[in-house]
Amino acid sequence: YVFEDQIDFVQLSGIDEEPSEAESGSISRGLMEERKTLPIYSFRDELLHAVNDHQVIIIEGETGCGKTTQLPQYLHEAGYTKQGMIACTQPRRVAAMSVAARVSHEMGVKLGHEVGYSIRFEDCTSEKTVIKYMTDGMLLREFLGEPNLSSYSVVMVDEAHERTLSTDILFGLVKDIARSRKDFKLIVSSATLDAVKFSEFFDGAPIFRIPGHRFPVVPYYTRVPEADYIGAAISTVLKIHVTEPLGDILLFLTGQEEIESVDGMLKERTRGFGTKIAELIICPIFANLPTELQAKIFEPTPEGARKVVLATNIAETSLTINGIKYVVDPGFCKTKSYNPRTGMESLVVNPISRASANQRAGRAGRTGPGKCFRLYTEYSYKHELEDNAVPEIQRTNLANVVLTLKSLGIHDLVNFDFMDPPPSEALLRALEQLFALNALNAKGELTKTGRRMAEFPLDPMLSKMVVASDKYKCSEEIVTIAAMLSVGNTIFYCPKDKQVHADNARMNFNPGNGDHIALLNVYNAWKEMEYSTQWCYENYVQVRSMKRAHDIRDQLEGLLQRVQIDIRSNPSDLDATKKAIASGFFPHAAKLRKDGSYRTLKNPQTVYIHPSSGVVRVHPRWLVYNELVLTTKEYMRQVTDIKPEWLVEIAPHYYHLKDVDDPAIKKMPRGQGKPALWQWNSQIKMG
Ligand code: ADP
Ligand code: MG
Repeated sequence: YVFEDQIDFVQLSGIDEEPSEAESGSISRGLMEERKTLPIYSFRDELLHAVNDHQVIIIEGETGCGKTTQLPQYLHEAGYTKQGMIACTQPRRVAAMSVAARVSHEMGVKLGHEVGYSIRFEDCTSEKTVIKYMTDGMLLREFLGEPNLSSYSVVMVDEAHERTLSTDILFGLVKDIARSRKDFKLIVSSATLDAVKFSEFFDGAPIFRIPGHRFPVVPYYTRVPEADYIGAAISTVLKIHVTEPLGDILLFLTGQEEIESVDGMLKERTRGFGTKIAELIICPIFANLPTELQAKIFEPTPEGARKVVLATNIAETSLTINGIKYVVDPGFCKTKSYNPRTGMESLVVNPISRASANQRAGRAGRTGPGKCFRLYTEYSYKHELEDNAVPEIQRTNLANVVLTLKSLGIHDLVNFDFMDPPPSEALLRALEQLFALNALNAKGELTKTGRRMAEFPLDPMLSKMVVASDKYKCSEEIVTIAAMLSVGNTIFYCPKDKQVHADNARMNFNPGNGDHIALLNVYNAWKEMEYSTQWCYENYVQVRSMKRAHDIRDQLEGLLQRVQIDIRSNPSDLDATKKAIASGFFPHAAKLRKDGSYRTLKNPQTVYIHPSSGVVRVHPRWLVYNELVLTTKEYMRQVTDIKPEWLVEIAPHYYHLKDVDDPAIKKMPRGQGKPALWQWNSQIKMG
């Protein structure tokens, strides 16, 4: 096999890690035996004593030592579930699902019975459930129904080092519960964390360190920066496969789309390998993958074959796959980036931090010595990567969290117990946005609309769109659109060899009415065909995503009833549906410019319609978009054309006639006066 795109790696200094003693290595008999081989097992009694003696403890232990899967079981065995459930939070959906599956297996119970999981739009628990793995965001939502979490005896905030927005907010809330409920136990756990900082935040809680084993991992760097990290990643995987001794490979990618495309490309390139080269089993993992396929990454690799796992950051600390000997690290991850000055948020592929790079490399050294192929230079590892990632709370839109906190009756956001407070500008932006959406009144209090919005596990603009559908009598259409948007960008697929057909099929749903309506058309066409799988194949639509949308839609419909909005359909009046969309997304309005680009209205910035959009050639004069994605340009994904006068009609606090300066609407009445934003301004500055 000849590599046409040989990458030049250099081996440099080793990772500063002492080689440690080998793990027992013997093949375990049964799961119980396997559990006993985990490093955490020898600390079982000590940990149980600690939990007994202290209300809050901090646990730090090497990834894979058994914190997530074992601790909740120990607590259950020790009787903590007699008084309530054990919650264990994870920053990512896949981790919650996968770990719950593993633990239910270890306990010999059916998933969803004693051990279950809860993620957005998917509750796999029952009356019987005593150990509940859940995303941090879901636990946050549980506060809405149960402010003192009385159905839980223990909360384990896991992967605390990730410092996701929800985890950071949880910290403040559970700390409060620990003070008021003496029977409540809190465990904060993580792979590598600033344990002292956590301990200080939790009133000097004791820290337990579980020593782990780690074998040396040799890092390799590219001699020059790689322009095309995907291409480089594929070549590296193939090179390892062809030239290195057997052992599994873990490749870090940034998201589902990338994973799927690399999956396809690897399959293509290994097809002609013949029998001289070992089999390469390709195992992608992402949240939307069916559970059976997710489990595949953990299956032992057959003798003589090699496995390559394609994962996102999830495999950095949350999931431990045994047998990984090679890590390929392109050095990127996808993050939301937010500019609090402009209020603009977009998805960006960013370089990882040095701490992440070290974690990733460490994954190759769990069961034996390993190698880590970094697709960047040693110089950039040493001098260009940040030491640590910035906590999400300091780089994200806070509107969602502010709405949740307001619904919990927490009004004084400035004095909320943040581990690291968000920039006051970001808080102000969030308040402004919620005010514009009519979720808060001028005093910053929750309105009826706001209370309704908070019922939906959606971002505020989406939940506003849903609530506004009541006014336009099109809730039927709008929940479909909200469900389809919540599935993510995985509705359509486009096989390489059938690109033209797939594009045509996609365009059939989009006769120029915008991408939201196109999503609605797809769903309704599928429904008309009685949810047929065959229909999906014929139309290049992912049946898995559609089923998920169907499921989400049902749940949203249930929530509509809860907030007393009737399901009503208004299919003949597309403008009504578009107005409902605009009622949520008016902050994302943009106007066409002469050169075909767009200018966002509120905080002028140049943006473009994403090439995948159905209206990319139509160029509506005015539009609203769902999200911004920064790749080669700042792209708007999912756009719908609107009439500019709607903006003033829908959001008179936010847009004035001069903003939508269009000769056609000169005769409109004037918008209302300025809101009392200064109140918040001063409120925040005082804090
Ligand atoms: P930690 O939380 O400390 O990082 P975990 O509790 O996640 O560690 O993992 C402990 C062990 O359980 C690891 O060896 C891991 O490989 C194994 N494990 C976790 N999930 C699965 C699974 N779904 N299938 C097989 N093994 C698993
Ligand atoms: Mg874990």
